[in-house]
Formats: sequence, structure tokens, C-alpha cells
Amino acid sequence: MVMPLLGLLGLALAALTWLVLRHAMANARLMDLSYHRLESSKAALAASEARFRDVAEAASDWIWEVDADYRITYLSGRFEAVTGLPSSSWLGRPLSELLNCDSQPINDWLSSAPRTNTDRATLDCHYQTVVGHQRICRIASRAIREEMRSDSHYRGTASDITEEIEAQARLQHLSQHDALTGLANRNHLREFLEGKLNNLPPIEQPLVMLSIDLDRFKPINDALGHAAGDHVLHEVARRLHECTRGEDLLARHGGDEFVMVLSGTYSRENIDHLCKRLTEKIKQPYLVENQEVFIGASIGIAMAPQDACQVEELLRYADLALYQAKVAGRNTWRFYAQEMNERIVERRQLERDLRQALSQNDQLCLHYQPRYRIDGLQLAGAEALVRWQHPQRNLLGPDHFIPLAEETGLIGALGIWVLRNACIEAMRWTQPLPVSVNLSPLQFRCCDLVSQVKSALDESGLPASRLELEITESVMLEDAEGARVTLKQLKALGLHLSMDDFGTGYSSLSYLHTYPFDTLKIDRSFIADLDVSQDRRAIVQAITGLGRALSMTVTAEGVENQAQLGILQADGCYEAQGYYLSRPLPAEALRSLLSCEVDA
Ligand code: C2E
Ligand code: MG
Ligand code: MG
Repeated sequence: MVMPLLGLLGLALAALTWLVLRHAMANARLMDLSYHRLESSKAALAASEARFRDVAEAASDWIWEVDADYRITYLSGRFEAVTGLPSSSWLGRPLSELLNCDSQPINDWLSSAPRTNTDRATLDCHYQTVVGHQRICRIASRAIREEMRSDSHYRGTASDITEEIEAQARLQHLSQHDALTGLANRNHLREFLEGKLNNLPPIEQPLVMLSIDLDRFKPINDALGHAAGDHVLHEVARRLHECTRGEDLLARHGGDEFVMVLSGTYSRENIDHLCKRLTEKIKQPYLVENQEVFIGASIGIAMAPQDACQVEELLRYADLALYQAKVAGRNTWRFYAQEMNERIVERRQLERDLRQALSQNDQLCLHYQPRYRIDGLQLAGAEALVRWQHPQRNLLGPDHFIPLAEETGLIGALGIWVLRNACIEAMRWTQPLPVSVNLSPLQFRCCDLVSQVKSALDESGLPASRLELEITESVMLEDAEGARVTLKQLKALGLHLSMDDFGTGYSSLSYLHTYPFDTLKIDRSFIADLDVSQDRRAIVQAITGLGRALSMTVTAEGVENQAQLGILQADGCYEAQGYYLSRPLPAEALRSLLSCEVDA
């Protein structure tokens, strides 16, 4: 019994030993495996670290790490290359110190850093390079929590964005400023005004807008070239800028238009004083290509909230006031007044009416003022003078609508209408007398005048020798060579050319031999006091003598009494025209007059 028991015990022991041995062997195998695993993960870590370092060194950004106290524990080699600062001297110092900012905001920003790859706002900070230059860097960060540590530390990148920010600032500047003068441009002006008008200024501290337009700038550009024009504009900007105060804005609004916005307390006297200074400054000579050139400035003023509270309105009102300053003789200033707006509204209505009148053909008419030979007072011809029978107004004279037609471009259509109708009417006369037609200087620029005249003659059948065109000297002033060519072509058609209102402009004698005129019409302002002023008489005598010497007909306009006519007769003037002899007559009345003359 003992034997089998011992045998069983031995068997159990052997089994146990085998088990222990097997377990030990398994453990040893496991340990071996762990060892290998540890080794390979160490190698992987080293490889990862090496990769990180390579990337960190190759990246254009620098990489930083701070501990839980926000002190720098690591700076990639790139840091030194970018900043020129030695990494070693920054290790252990707060990141806020390096980034030149208060520690609290940056530390708060860091502690809110995510641990995952979530999107997160970056932070732009300034730092100083080794040579003391201020640069801007954009930092991004991530919180790191390692298993063995309870606290977080932070790792991130820093990109130097100084050039990017500067380029953005340059772009922003370009989009807001005028490239030539460096002043604010239209966009900037509009934004500035919108900002100011959002919080409406009090009436005692209005926002004052000066719309400044240069006078006689275009001739400089045309005669001396764009470089000269640019030089003058640059200098104008400088002079205007000298008159601004801290909060004021000076903008270039267009070619030769500037806008100055004044904020602060400005009384009307202050504004008057400023405008006086501005116009005086602009009037001073400009040195261009070693010669002095002169311009002027007209200024229109509108104020918020008094005149308008909207940007567009304010700009428009300042422009209306500017227009009045120009009308008042330029180189001066005008404050906006409500009547100006009313006048503009009225003008717009008149423009619409004139368009309609030109299309309907029953409101415009021509009156004819006869002119007479001085010696026997025979009828020598008649001048066509346009009138407008406005549906709601009286009969309007040309002074009421010719300037408007010139400004709106309607003068082309009006000019053709006058030419055609004057030629057609002259064909109805019982005497083959010449008809005179006045031309606007603009008809020389906007239209093919020679073809228009030719068509009017062809359509009516009027011989060219019975048509006389009256031109003022402004035609020659505006484009001397162009005028010479056109006048020669007109003359070649066989018609007569007359210089109207002679004596009122430059009355240059060179016009008389350069251009092919047949007649000189002495302006009525010389005739008005001919009988009371010896000087006037001397001038009229001189013009008459000149005309005679150049074989030109001399006509005196505006003869209003016998005394004037007597003097003109005595001094050898050739023709006369004026209320004393006949007022302008409706077409039928002139026709009757001509018939009576024939009958007589
Ligand atoms: P203008 O060509 O010098 O015409 C003479 C103007 O003097 C006319 O005025 C005439 O009525 C006025 N007049 C004539 N005799 C006397 C007088 O004895 N005393 C006074 N105080 N005035 C006299 P109107 O018809 O008002 O024309 C004014 C100007 O309008 C004209 O001056 C001419 O420059 C322009 N005009 C007239 N008709 C036309 C036209 O069909 N086309 C263009 N472009 N201009 C025209
Ligand atoms: Mg005339
Ligand atoms: Mg005249």
C-alpha cells in the first residue's frame, strides 16, 4: 500500500516539476520577447525623434517647447537661423519674454491649447532680432501630457510672417491710397465719411467737406505733358496737406479734384480763413521744366449734419457749391445753399424739355435780325437767332438754353436744326440776301461741321454764297490748328465767314490774316457808348480802318440810336445792325419786310 502511494507521490512531484519548469520556460520566453520589443520600440523612438529633428531643422518655421511654467525648454535650430538669437540664452526663460508680450494673455492662450488636432486660432506676436529689428511671428501650439507626468507642457511652431504682414499692409495701403500723391483715394474717403456719419456729429461741431477743383490744370497737362501734370498734382497735394490738422482727411477724388474733410470745431470764419489760405497756396507758381506755371483752385463746401447726413448727398452738395464757385469766377469758394440744389433740379428739367423740343420740332424757331448797309441803309442780309417757345414759359432767348445745350452735348443737334432751318427759310425770301448763322465753338469739336453745312446747303438748295457763318474767337483759342483747317474747308464751299463779337476777347490781329474771315462784327459793348466815349470811338475807328485795310466788311452790332448810326456813317463803317434799325423779327415778319422792299 505504501509503495503505490509513494509511486503516486513521485508522479505528482514530477508533474509539478514539469509544470514549474514549463512556466519558467514560458516566462523566460516572454521576457526575451519583451526585451526585444523594448529594444525595437527604443529604436523606433530614436528614429521618430531623428525624423522630428530633421523636419524641425528643415522647416521654415521654428519649433519651441515650454514646460508647465511656460518656460522655454526647447528651441529648434531654425530659431537661431531666423532670429539670429542664440537658443541657449533663451532656454529657461518665459516664452512671453521672447515674444515681447505680457505673460498673462500668452499663458492663458497656451493653457487653452488643445491636445488633439482640432482647429485653433493662432496668435501673432512681435519679437526682436539680434540686431534689434521688430519682427512679427505667428505661433500655433498644442498641449502635451506625458504618461509619467501629471502636468502639461506645450509644444508649437512659430512662423515669421513679417514679410506677409508687410505685403498685406502694402496692398491695403494701395487699395486705400492714390498712387501718385499718396493721399487717401475714393474708397478710403467713402469709408472715412461713412464712419464719421454713422455717429452724426453735433451741429456745433459739424463735419465739413471741401471739394477742391483745380482751375486751368488741363492746359498744363495738354501743353507740357503728363509728367509735368503729375508733378503739379504732387505739389498741390503737398501744399493742401500743409493746411490739414491731425484728424482731417485729405483725399484725391479724381484727376484734379481733391476732397478735404475737416472734423473738430470749425466756425464759418475758420472755414473762410482756411479756404483763403488754400486758394492762396495753390495760386503760388509751380516750377515745371524750368518754367513757372500757374493754376488756381475753386472750392465747394458742404457740412453734416446741416446740409446732409448721407455720404452721397454730402459729396453732391459740395460739388454743387463748387460749381457755383467756378461760375463766380474761379479761385474762390462757396458754401452749399439749398437754392443750388433747386437750381440744379430746374436745370435737369430744362434739359429734358430741350431734348423733347429738339425731337418734336414745333417749339424751336428762328428770328431774323436784318442788317443794313450804312450809306444808303439798304438791307444787306439777316442774322438767324434761335428762340424756344417753351410750353410752360415765355419765349426763351438763346442765353437761357445755348449754354445748357453746350454742357449737355445737345448743341450738336440744335446746331444742325438751326443750320437747316435758316437755309430753308432763306430760300423763301423774295430777295437773294445772305443769311447769317451763329456757330458754337463746340460744333467745331463735336460734329463733322463741314458735312453738316454741306448737307444743309444741298437739302435747301441755298447757294453757298448766301450763307454766312458767325464764329467767336474762342473757336481759335481752343484749337487753333483744327479751327484753321475746318474754316478753310468751310470757306472752300464758297460761303462767308464772319468774326462775331470782335473786341471782347483777345482780338488778336494774327487771327485776321491766319483765318479766312470776310467780315468783322464789332461787339455791341463798343457801340453802346460810342456817342459818349471818345475812347470807344477811337477803338471803333481803329477796327473799321483795320477791316478796310484787310478788305473785310465791318459790321457794327447793337446800334440803338441815331447818334451812334451817325458816328458809324461818318467813320466809314460798312454795315449796321441793332434795335434802332430793326429788332430780330419772326420769319414771316422778315419775309413781309423783304416783300415790301421789293414792292417799294
Ligand atoms: P450775337 O450773335 O452777338 O447776336 C446778337 C445779339 O444781340 C442777339 O441777342 C440780338 O437780339 C441782340 N441785339 C441785336 N441788336 C441789339 C441792340 O441794339 N441792343 C441790344 N441790347 N441787343 C441787341 P440774342 O438773340 O439774345 O442772342 C444772343 C447770342 O446768342 C447771340 O449773340 C449768339 O451768340 C447766340 N445765339 C443766337 N442764336 C444762336 C444759334 O442759333 N446758335 C448759337 N450757337 N448761338 C446763337
Ligand atoms: Mg451773331
Ligand atoms: Mg455778336
